[in-house]
Amino acid sequence: MDANKEVLFLHGGASTHFFQVPMNFLTKGTKAAYLDCGVWGTKAIKEAKIYGDVDVVASSKDKNYTYIPAGFHIPNDAAYFHYTTNNTIEGTQMHHIPDASVPLIADMSSDILSREMDFNKFAFIYAGAQKNIGAAGVNLVVADRSFLAKGNKGIPSMMDYTVHVENGSMLNTPPVFAIYVCMLTLRWLKKNGGIQAIESANNKKAALLYDTLDTNSIFTLPVEKKDRSLMNAVFTITDPSLEALFLKKCESESMIGIKGHRNVGGFRVSLYNALPLSSVQVITDLMNDFANQYGS
Ligand code: PLP
Repeated sequence: MDANKEVLFLHGGASTHFFQVPMNFLTKGTKAAYLDCGVWGTKAIKEAKIYGDVDVVASSKDKNYTYIPAGFHIPNDAAYFHYTTNNTIEGTQMHHIPDASVPLIADMSSDILSREMDFNKFAFIYAGAQKNIGAAGVNLVVADRSFLAKGNKGIPSMMDYTVHVENGSMLNTPPVFAIYVCMLTLRWLKKNGGIQAIESANNKKAALLYDTLDTNSIFTLPVEKKDRSLMNAVFTITDPSLEALFLKKCESESMIGIKGHRNVGGFRVSLYNALPLSSVQVITDLMNDFANQYGS
């Protein structure tokens, strides 16, 4: 990462930035461009509209957010372009960084540190810690100094990113335990080969899971193949009457919390950095057994 970046550890959830970003970088009479690819992007758009105009450059709402739109145009006169790199609930992921002539802002809450990326392309990145960085209660922010300098003045100190920079992320009592867990997680990541190594492990995990789902027609995958998330795999059972049984079988083998989000239904298996390949093996073995027993 280039030397012009500030790294902050700030209070709150990633949702805090849905309004803190426009509060800092958008004003009435100016507009920001947003991509609408799921629940979290929609929430960010709603909050931004409080502060200025929002140009939704593309949306995948027409197909229940099962794909990432392509070929959209980002206007040159937008204050910034905002998108969510990984759509946690819907199981889609942006596999390239969009070209934009305006500052790029990304919510990377659910895939930060999971893969190598050119972080220098972003003017502002935020991510809740609770997936790949550490414990809930703290957010990572990586911001370009020159972008921060152009931000709005006269906003409450606690909301003003430049004030947090001046105070070294310690404007008020930091969430010390959550930050301590981040430190341990980052040390663990470094010791195990860093992002390059974790990316290769994540690719193997996702390949095993998606191959298993693809080869057993008892499962249906709603997301377009090219846009599948390597962090959150969403699927249904082709015959919905078998869903409760599948869930019960998973639970009986201590695999809990795989029920899909209420907006999407079905199932969601998350493959965050902390999950080893051996755990994916356990669920894919169960999937194969289930398909052999109940599939056609
Ligand atoms: N953005 C993304 C991509 C998320 O996955 C989440 C939570 O899962 C959020 C934002 C909201 O995070 P929080 O609950 O920490 O506010």
